[in-house]
Amino acid sequence: MPHSVAVPCRTGVLAVFPLAAIRFSHFLLPLLLLLGGGLAARLAVLNEFFLSLFNVLPTLLLLLGGTFCVVYNRQRELSLLVVVYLGYFLLDTQTDYFRQHAKVREDAALVFHLCSLLLPLLYGLFGAWRERSHLLQDLVARAAVLLAVGGVAVALAQRYPATLQRWLTEIHWPLLHGSWMSLIQLAYPLFLIASVLLLVQYLRQPRPLHAALLFGLFAQLWMLPQTFILPHALQVMSSLSMLMLVSAVAHEAYQMAFRDELTGLPGRRALNDRLERLGRSYVIAMADVDHFKKFNDTHGHDVGDQVLRLVAAQLRKIGGGGKAYRYGGEEFTLVFPGKTLAECLPHLEVVRQAIEVYRIQLRDKQQRPQDDKQGRQRRAGARAGEVSVTVSMGVAERSLEQSRPEEVIKAADKALYSAKSAGRNCIRSPGQRRGAVKLESADS
Ligand code: GH3
Ligand code: MG
Ligand code: MG
Repeated sequence: MPHSVAVPCRTGVLAVFPLAAIRFSHFLLPLLLLLGGGLAARLAVLNEFFLSLFNVLPTLLLLLGGTFCVVYNRQRELSLLVVVYLGYFLLDTQTDYFRQHAKVREDAALVFHLCSLLLPLLYGLFGAWRERSHLLQDLVARAAVLLAVGGVAVALAQRYPATLQRWLTEIHWPLLHGSWMSLIQLAYPLFLIASVLLLVQYLRQPRPLHAALLFGLFAQLWMLPQTFILPHALQVMSSLSMLMLVSAVAHEAYQMAFRDELTGLPGRRALNDRLERLGRSYVIAMADVDHFKKFNDTHGHDVGDQVLRLVAAQLRKIGGGGKAYRYGGEEFTLVFPGKTLAECLPHLEVVRQAIEVYRIQLRDKQQRPQDDKQGRQRRAGARAGEVSVTVSMGVAERSLEQSRPEEVIKAADKALYSAKSAGRNCIRSPGQRRGAVKLESADS
């Protein structure tokens, strides 16, 4: 039975929150760092190596991560690293004094409460504040906000320390006060607002960085009440919050280099990387969308793009240990390490058929072009009801004659060419009989 899908209609909730783009991999590293940090911070005695490591890690991460951010124009991450580091620095001075003198410094309460208030405020603000296109302006604006907020806080703390401390520690909303609140009451609404802002930001644009920002905030929320209680909480959690930011920047840089943005499949660079690590037996298939130029001309480039995404989504489901890559344009490569041609063909056939029976309804109002002529062309497509695309595939396996991946790709490409000549929407391998247009069903 053919199944159909409307070309994704970008209206309503899905347009605002692309939930399908949420990936567990965005959360994996921040979650592990948070859990690992929670455990490490709870250890009463940390071994000498880790003790020294966590003593220098925040500064090291500020320098290394900061340089990385400057080189790659990541102002937002840089400002967040600075905020977390400043919080760490101010509180570390206090905990050092506490450890050396067995009592807190005179201004400890005021500094601690100000940090509890300003950390979620500045972290939430800088985290949700998207980069402007003008890099220098953006950096200057962030520095100005940081200096203004910090300057006002320092001025008030010096001029009216007692009044400020009273105001900070006061319970402003008795009805909302919980006995579990170990920070000043004012800190909690700020943490809540910052969490909601960062969560909405992640849901609107699911990216590793946005997930890391959220977990970094939780790390700060967990850390603050433990600052004077657990001896390593401050160093460990500040380090890990900064590490979450730096590793999210690295994760996104990796994605940018290795993932194809349109389809979400690994791209050409990832394919080349994989080809270098293939063993002695493998199969490579090249798949190409049939008459795609005509499809684009009839329905428009944007619908063409969405169809490429649908084709990629089907190819991603390939069984038999295969992996799909976008080779370029409307061409895809499927790599089956350690497999023979006979083992792969049924799996390729399943995918070819799945694409063939996919029905695409063009009913997205936003897809309608402004231009009348183009509009008429597309509406004609939509009136025809559903549309579908097919793919042709050429497949080849490694052999003694063709032992290098480039040679196998070339053979698969040649086979693809015969698939096109044989009428398209079929799979061909080198030397295959010209008459057999389609392989029979997967289980044959
Ligand atoms: P054939 O069946 O022989 O493969 O015909 P074809 O029209 O698919 O082949 P051809 O290589 O002539 O055209 C490929 C078209 O794919 C050209 C270009 O408009 C389109 N294309 C390539 N990349 C993209 C893309 O990223 N998005 C969209 N919408 N179209 C693309
Ligand atoms: Mg092509
Ligand atoms: Mg094509």
